[in-house]
Amino acid sequence: MNKRKVTLLVPAYNEEEALPLFHAEVCKVMGSLSDRYDFELLFINDGSKDRTLEVLEQLRAKDSRVNYIDMSRNYGKEIGMLAGFDHATGDCVITLDADLQEPPEVIPDMLAKWEEGYDDVYGNRRERRQSVLKKASSRLYHKMLAGMSRDVDLTSNAGDFRLLDRRCVDAISALRESQRYTKGLYEIIGFSKAPVPYDIKERVAGKSKWKVRALLRLAVDGITSHSVMPLKLASYMGLTVSLIAFIYLIVVLVKALVWGDPVSGYPTIVCLILLLGGFILLALGIIGEYLGRIFMETKQRPPYFVNSINGDKRATRL
Ligand code: UDP
Ligand code: MG
Repeated sequence: MNKRKVTLLVPAYNEEEALPLFHAEVCKVMGSLSDRYDFELLFINDGSKDRTLEVLEQLRAKDSRVNYIDMSRNYGKEIGMLAGFDHATGDCVITLDADLQEPPEVIPDMLAKWEEGYDDVYGNRRERRQSVLKKASSRLYHKMLAGMSRDVDLTSNAGDFRLLDRRCVDAISALRESQRYTKGLYEIIGFSKAPVPYDIKERVAGKSKWKVRALLRLAVDGITSHSVMPLKLASYMGLTVSLIAFIYLIVVLVKALVWGDPVSGYPTIVCLILLLGGFILLALGIIGEYLGRIFMETKQRPPYFVNSINGDKRATRL
């Protein structure tokens, strides 16, 4: 029987402590499945500033299933995953984080669903051990995004821990936008989806790489790349304000014509200028967000550059 090949895709940024632990854990799972599947581990070193690259070299020296792509700088996890999808050679790709927050023990369940014929098997967090604030804001954000866009109607409990069939991987790679919100892209490509529940764990080592600013940028990317609702809102707002302004105009005119109005209404004028100025700037800002993204995408820059593959600086493929 022909064994099918599974690529485990792992983006890693400053994960020198977590990687050896990750490798040991994953080896256990791969060992139990090795009679049915061939495995490939594909690490993306996303411009780490610590010894991550050395650790990957060492891992490859003792385990030939380990492959690593060294990115030319830090691009962020979304672009890192794109590089992984571009270079993965497996019949399916399983994406998971290097910090073991997503337990590799779930992999057999995912593979079982894949064998049933599902193309996109996504891990579904049972419970999130996060601060109340982070949880509430994340839930609110996903509700809002789902309301604004037909692309993204996933529950907020699905993350980047998922198994993608080769067909899905090719589809995701074909979407070359450089401001990526991968969670939304999984929805865009379609194919048959199935959930697999899992419990999210604490990070084994190191610190979370997300800074508030990066999270905010991702949140804005999520909205602007999957919805034009903010633009519509701006025009609705403009329409409403114009309507009110027109009514008020008539009131002022009639008042002036019928009763004669000596100069007054200074507070009204100040309020109007401030309010309208605010609305106009807000609408401009929304347009600017989209314009900026159009500008960046029209450059058609390759989304990333690779420094080396498995230590070879001239390699472009695995
Ligand atoms: N990561 C990356 N590039 C970055 C930031 C993070 O490749 O610029 C990787 C990181 O090494 C980890 C995964 O993305 O494997 C998720 O990051 P993290 O665990 O810090 O996020 P959290 O789980 O806290 O949301
Ligand atoms: Mg994590």
